[in-house]
Order: sequence, then structure tokens, then C-alpha cells
Amino acid sequence: MPIAKSVRRLEPYVPGEQPKSASVVKLNTNENPYPPSPACAAALASFDIGKLRKYPDPVFLELRKAIARRNKCSVEQVFVGNGSDEILALAAKAFVENDGYIASLDPSYSLYKTIAAIRDVRWEGPDKAKKSALMLWTNPNAPTGTFVDPAEIEKFARNYKGVLIVDEAYADFARANSMRLALSPGNTNTIVMRTFSKSYSLAGLRVGYAVGPASLIEALYKVKDSYNVDAIAQAVALAAYNDQKWMRANAAKIRRTRKAFAASLVKRGWDVMQSESNFVFARPPRGNAAEIFAALKKRGIYVRYFPAPATKDRLRITIGTDEQMKKLLEALDAL
Ligand code: PMP
Repeated sequence: MPIAKSVRRLEPYVPGEQPKSASVVKLNTNENPYPPSPACAAALASFDIGKLRKYPDPVFLELRKAIARRNKCSVEQVFVGNGSDEILALAAKAFVENDGYIASLDPSYSLYKTIAAIRDVRWEGPDKAKKSALMLWTNPNAPTGTFVDPAEIEKFARNYKGVLIVDEAYADFARANSMRLALSPGNTNTIVMRTFSKSYSLAGLRVGYAVGPASLIEALYKVKDSYNVDAIAQAVALAAYNDQKWMRANAAKIRRTRKAFAASLVKRGWDVMQSESNFVFARPPRGNAAEIFAALKKRGIYVRYFPAPATKDRLRITIGTDEQMKKLLEALDAL
């Protein structure tokens, strides 16, 4: 068979369902229920379609400048990807030798295992993180939503010989983050990664970014496709990024809803892990998560269920609008 051995045995990543019907209460892929900043619509409306005749800026300088300015670092310390998923794949190319391996928390974002399999290297859990070539530390973690103090991550980074990527896809919903560590002058091994998909309400745009030591960031540039972020995505992401006020207000709304929703589940006997993200990971009183998942789906309410042994008695429920959470609670009460 002309297909590479590593691909033949590959178990591809399965993303959450994207149902066609708009009536579905969609709480399964950690998208944001609120619209992006109005500045994004304005950027799209004023986008000169004639620009698409030419290739986009291969190094997305305007967007990098904005990110660098806000974080008080140089543009050489900023990378942008076609979603942060692309940055993960590029990191596996740039930082891992063929006999090296990738580590992450466990459970964590299940794509990490697939990234390692595509790169044809091993994946290991946190016990083996110390000797890994690349550690992907998700904070807040997914699917649990739990948060660790950035001081703990810093302690790990100090003695670590590989490259540490702190995956902060959900950091805007948390109380702190590791950006200071990524930008500290003594840092040589730690990158912070963010996305526009969650707090900026732009999952469909596919833009993520990474900030860290210039030498590591340069390695990502070396292995990327020539034009990995299209011209429209660059323009819209820039507009979103320049409206921090909108993003902050949006994230604050999600946090408020999260608090109220978690309390409502607890009242109903659920065990809810302490979340600092835009979802909760919760165990129904009887642990019958698979059953509840299916029953909710039948009623047009989609949440996420991971059947692996460590996650099988919980549901990951994205925080939507107050109204969506109310519908979910009403459905649970009627089961
Ligand atoms: N990291 C984590 C922990 C995630 O949950 C996700 C979203 N599924 C991503 C990265 C990828 O986000 P995106 O590619 O949309 O930037």
C-alpha cells in the first residue's frame, strides 16, 4: 500500500459535531455563543476584494505588531497560525527529533495524541514530561476546565530541557496566565499559545498565535507553509484584537453564566470540576453520562462525551447564553 505506515495505523482526531440545523442548542465544541466585536463586521465590509488577487502577507506583520505592542515584546517573538491547531502541528515538526516524544497532561486536548501520531513520534502522559522534547501544558486544561497556578508551570519550565508550550486557548476565562513567563528575559524554552476561537468568538476564522523567545518563534516560521493565514483572516483577527474591551466583556458574561450554571448542576446532585474556562466537566449523580448525552441529543441539545475510561462518567458542557443553559437544565429536569 502506498500509504505511510504511520498513517495507516493513525486514529484521526474526531472533532465535535457541527449540526446543520440552527435550532440545535450547541454546547459541544466550546464555541462562544456571542457574536464577535462589531469591528470584525466592519473590517469585512471594508475589505477590498481586489486584495485577494495577490498573496497575503506571509508574515502577517500588522497583526503581529498589534500583538507585540499589547504584550510589550518584539514582533520577532510573535507567530500566527491557521488556528492554534496549526501551531501545534508546526511545533511537532520544529521541536521534536524522530526519537523524541511529545507529552501532555492526561486527560487533555485529545488532538495532542494525534499530532504525535502524525509526526510519527510517541506521546506520553505528565509522568514522563520531564524528558520529553515537547510538553503541551494546557491551562486551563480541557476537558476538565481546571486551572493551575502559573507558578507551578514556571517551576517545571525552570528545569525542563525541551520546549514547553502553554496552551492557553481558554486563558481569557481564567484568573491568570503564563504570558509573563513567556516574555521574561531569562526564558529560553517556554511559548504561550492563544486562539481567536473562544474569547474572540472567531472559531470559523481559524487564527491562533504564539508568543515566546525569538529563537523558538523563528523555528516555527521556518517550517510553516508560505501563506498559512489568509488575507481576510488577518484583517478580521486584527479588528477583533484591537477591540479588547469587547472580548473582555464577552468573557465576563461567560464567567457569570458559568458560575450560575455550575451552581444549578451542583443543586441537582452533579459533581462539577472547578472550571476557569468556557465549559464545565461534570458528573451526573448516577454517572450515566453516555445515557444523558444521547437523551439530550435527541432533544436537540448537543454536549460532548468522551468515552475513554478516565472521562466516561462526565459530560463536557460548553457555557452558552443564559437562555441556552436554562433550556439544558429544563431538559435535564424532564429526563
Ligand atoms: N487548544 C485547546 C486546549 C483547545 O481546546 C482547542 C480547541 N479545540 C485548541 C487548542 C484549538 O483551537 P483553534 O485551532 O481553533 O485555535
